[in-house]
Amino acid sequence: MEDQIRGIERAALSEIESCTDKKMLETLRIKYLGKKGKLTSLLRGMGALPPADRPRIGNLVNQAKTRLQARFTEALEQYEEAERQRAIANEYTDITLPGRRFWLGRKHPLQQTFDEIREIFFGMGFSVAEGPDVELEAYNFDKLNFPPEHPARDMQDTFYVQDDVILRTHTSPVQARVMEKQHPPVRIIVPGRVYRTDEVDPSHSPVFHQVEGLYVDRRVTMGDLKGVLTEFIHQMFGPTTQLRFRPSFFPFTEPSAEVDMTCIFCQGSGCNVCKQKGWLEILGSGMVDPNVFAAVGYNPEEWTGFAFGMGVERIAMLKYNINDMRLLYTNDLRFLEQF
Ligand SMILES: [Zn+2]
Repeated sequence: MEDQIRGIERAALSEIESCTDKKMLETLRIKYLGKKGKLTSLLRGMGALPPADRPRIGNLVNQAKTRLQARFTEALEQYEEAERQRAIANEYTDITLPGRRFWLGRKHPLQQTFDEIREIFFGMGFSVAEGPDVELEAYNFDKLNFPPEHPARDMQDTFYVQDDVILRTHTSPVQARVMEKQHPPVRIIVPGRVYRTDEVDPSHSPVFHQVEGLYVDRRVTMGDLKGVLTEFIHQMFGPTTQLRFRPSFFPFTEPSAEVDMTCIFCQGSGCNVCKQKGWLEILGSGMVDPNVFAAVGYNPEEWTGFAFGMGVERIAMLKYNINDMRLLYTNDLRFLEQF
């Protein structure tokens, strides 16, 4: 019996030596130490031994098991260490390789202009309001005092989704939406996309961007309008820029004024950009028409206000000296990287 135990142990040790991987080692461990393994089977056969020999033989078997188990564990650790070394060798980093270039994104010039406009008006106590691009004709025209025969209502000028639903032609409908929900005072700017059936050329696009402004309170005057717009232009284009208010007409303001500023390219002496006039048109404005107040449920005897609107593309083109509006939409990195 003792010889048998020693024989099994020797055979196991020599087989461990000839193992080449973890899987073989595990098969071997089961062969000798598993539930049906060779050493385990010996213990099961102890019943045939004389009772006096049983403790001694049992002890020998257990000692052999312990020694083999230790050897298996040791062999397993050797394989695992070898695997770790191989993994480290494979993950070797070549620190002499040149780095990968990281492309830094930046804001589109239109977005930069939007942000700048917003910051200036935030500074004067305005907040941002937004509304739908697909708008009811009633909000786009009727509530803003556009008469039924106004040419902007024509299919030639406006995208109709269905009879009374259009793509908004200006951001002004948001004025009406805000006033219907909010009691005065109101002090908002409305940035957003607007749509008109214009052909694409250097200064037109069927989709472009506007920022609309609305101020409603008691005793608001044309002087307040001039003050706010002068402050805006000074912050946007420099404090020496001069403004000129020209009488004009918009259905939703009375009186209305186009606002020009001195040409920032020639300081008013005349150049190609201003067509030798020395002035550039920059925005439209006026005192809110009492009919608009009545349409949204404000008492025109009690409340007064002004509104203004500007094209963001036009501001960006003047600010960054861009001569073709299409450059703002074509996503050419050579162009965009300049800002
Ligand atoms: Zn000029």
